[in-house]
Amino acid sequence: MSYRSGRHFLQIPGPTNVPDAVLRAMDLPTIDHRGPTFAELGERVLDKVRVVFKTEQPVIIYPASGTGAWEAALVNTLSPGDRVLMSETGHFAALWYQLAKRLGLDPELLPGDWRHGADPEAIARCLAEDEEHRIKAVCVVHNETSTGVTSRIAEVREAIDRISHPALLMVDTISSLGSIDYRHDEWGVDVTIAGSQKGLMLPPGLSFNAISQKALVAAREARLPKAYWCWDDMLGPNANGFFPYTPATNLLYGLDKALDLLLEEGLENVFARHDRHAEATRRAVRAWGLELLCADEREFSSSLTAVLVPEGENADRLRQVILDNFDMSLGAGLSKLQGRVFRIGHLGDFNDLSLMGTLAGVEMGLACAGIPHRQGGVQAAMAYLAEEAEGDQAKA
Ligand code: PLP
Repeated sequence: MSYRSGRHFLQIPGPTNVPDAVLRAMDLPTIDHRGPTFAELGERVLDKVRVVFKTEQPVIIYPASGTGAWEAALVNTLSPGDRVLMSETGHFAALWYQLAKRLGLDPELLPGDWRHGADPEAIARCLAEDEEHRIKAVCVVHNETSTGVTSRIAEVREAIDRISHPALLMVDTISSLGSIDYRHDEWGVDVTIAGSQKGLMLPPGLSFNAISQKALVAAREARLPKAYWCWDDMLGPNANGFFPYTPATNLLYGLDKALDLLLEEGLENVFARHDRHAEATRRAVRAWGLELLCADEREFSSSLTAVLVPEGENADRLRQVILDNFDMSLGAGLSKLQGRVFRIGHLGDFNDLSLMGTLAGVEMGLACAGIPHRQGGVQAAMAYLAEEAEGDQAKA
C-alpha cells in the first residue's frame, strides 16, 4: 500500500491513539526487571494506578489483554460449578459469559436487548430468589463497547445491598476506566477488570484487576485451577515493586507517563471532556437523522457512540468507504450488530478538533456511500463545542 500523507484517524473504540509523550516514554532500553531501577518504576506505577480506579486497595497488572484479566477475576475467586449472574449487555458481556462456562462455572445470563445496560431491578429479583446464596458473583460490563451503553454500577451495588446478598460484584471497565467516572471503593466493587488500550491511552498488552478485601478473602477458598493468574503470586513480589515473571517493562514506562498525563489534566476534567465529546457526537447523529443504538439517555456512553444505519444499508460498506477515502477507521458492528451499526470512538487522547475531523469524515462518508441522511451533523457538533468553549471562557 502506498504512503498516505497525514495521520490515520484511529476512531475505533480502542485501541486508541497513543500520545506522543507516551510513545517517547516507551522508546527506552529495556532494563533488568530484578534490579533496583525497575523496583522504583514498579512501586511507582502500582501505587499511582490506584488513583484511576479510585481505590486504596491492591491493583494487579498483568502482561495480557483484557480477556486475561476477565479470567483472572473468575479463577481467583470462584470454585467449579459456582453460580454467577451476568447481564447480557452486548457482545463483550456474552464473551465473558462464554469464558465463565469454559472455566466450569455455572453462569446465568440475564437477557438483554443490546440497547440497554444491566438492569439493577432484574439483578435484585434474581438475588432475592436465591435464598440459599448459591450465586457467588454478579458480573457487569460497565461500558459495553459493542453498543455504546454504560451500566449504572452504583445502582447495581444498591440493588445487591438492598437484598443483603453476599455475592461478589465484578465489573469490566475495559472501555470506561480513565474515560468515564468509575469508583471501585465507593461502589463496593470486589474485582474491577481493566485494559491498557483505551482510556489509559497505551498500546494493548496490559490488563488489571483491582481487588477488594472481600475478594481477597474469597480467594482463600476458591478452587478453580490457576497458575499464571494467581493473585497471591503477584501480590508478594508487588509489595517491593517486582513481578513473579517477566513484566512488560516498556509498557510500564508508558503507563507511568500515561498516568501522569491523566492526573495532570485531572480525572474530573478528563471525564468532562469525554462527556462533551459524546454529547457533540450525539447532536451530530441526530442532525444526520440517524438513530443512536443506546435507548436510554441515562446510559449514553461517553467513550463511544454506536449509530444504526437505515434499514437496507450496510454499515460495513460505509466504514470501508470512509477508510478508503478519508483514512479513518471506525468500529464495526459486532456479532448480531454486524452491518447494522458503526461505532465512533471518542475516547483517550482526543480533543475538539480531533472530534470535528472524525465527524467530518463520517458526514462525507455518508454522502459518498449514498446513505440517506441530512446534512448539518458537523455543524450541530461544532455549534455545541463552540457554545461550551464560550461558557468556559465566560467562567474564566
Ligand atoms: N471487555 C470489553 C468491554 C472490551 O471492550 C474488550 C475489548 O475490546 C474486552 C472485554 C476484551 O479485551 P481484550 O480484547 O483486550 O482481550
